[in-house]
Amino acid sequence: MHSTRDERVILEATDVWRTYTRGDETIHALAGMSLTVRAGEMVGIVGRSGSGKTTFLNQVGCLDKPTRGSLKIVGHEVTCLDEKRLVEFRRDHVGFIFQLFYLIPTLTVWENVELPLIFAKRRDTDRVMEMIRKVGLEKNANALPGQLNGGDMQRVAIARALINQPKLLLADEPTGRLEHESRDAIMELFRRLQGEGLAIVIATHDLGLAQQTEGVVELKDGRIVQDRHENPARAWEQPREAGG
Ligand code: ADP
Ligand code: MG
Repeated sequence: MHSTRDERVILEATDVWRTYTRGDETIHALAGMSLTVRAGEMVGIVGRSGSGKTTFLNQVGCLDKPTRGSLKIVGHEVTCLDEKRLVEFRRDHVGFIFQLFYLIPTLTVWENVELPLIFAKRRDTDRVMEMIRKVGLEKNANALPGQLNGGDMQRVAIARALINQPKLLLADEPTGRLEHESRDAIMELFRRLQGEGLAIVIATHDLGLAQQTEGVVELKDGRIVQDRHENPARAWEQPREAGG
C-alpha cells in the first residue's frame, strides 16, 4: 500500500466510475468523479435525485466497488482490497450515517454506540461514555431509540459511526428526516467534529444545508459540474476582516 505525500489528505478519489447494466441498458451512475478532502474539511455534495450522490458515498464507504478509478482513504488504495480486508478497512477508517439512522431498536443508546467496538473485539467502556458525551446524550444512555426524537437518533448514529475513531465521516442525507431545529443542531455537531480534525462529506439535495459546509460540489449525471470546493474564489466564505 502506498501512502500519500500530504498527510492531511484523508480522501482522494480520482476518475471514479460506477457503471450498472440492466438488460442492454448501461447506466453510468458515476462518470469520472474526482474529489479530494483533507482533515478538518467539511464538503457538501449536492445534486438532484439520481445524480450519483449515494453511489459516490457507497464507493468511498467501501460498501461497493467502483467499475474503475482510484480511491485512496488515509493514503490506502481501497479499490484493490478483497472483501474481507474491505470490511476491516471500513470498520477502522470510515464512519457512515444515513437518513434513516439504522439503529437497532431493541438495544439502548449505549449498546448501539458500543456495537462496532464489540464487533472489533475492542470493548472500551470509557470510549463509549466519551462518545455519548460528545454527542450530548449522556442523559439518554439507557433509553431505547424509539424513545428519542429524530435529532437524537441521528446523534446516536454519529456516536456509533465514530466509535472506532475513523478520520472520515460520510453522511447520506443525514438531516433528511429531521425538523429544522434538529437539523441545525446536527450541523453544529458536524462543525464541532470538523474543528477536531475530522473530514466530513455530506450528500444532500438541500442546497441550504450544503451551503453551511465550507465547500460544495455539485453532481450531475455522475460527475462534478461545478466545483466550488477546489475553487480558490470561495464565494460562500465570509470576507475576512481587514488587517485581521
Ligand atoms: P442520488 O443519491 O444522487 O439520488 P444515486 O447514486 O442513488 O443518486 O443514483 C445514481 C444513478 O444510478 C441513478 O440513475 C440510479 O437509478 C442508478 N443506480 C443506483 N444504484 C443502482 C443499482 N444498484 N442498479 C442500477 N442502477 C442504479
Ligand atoms: Mg441518494
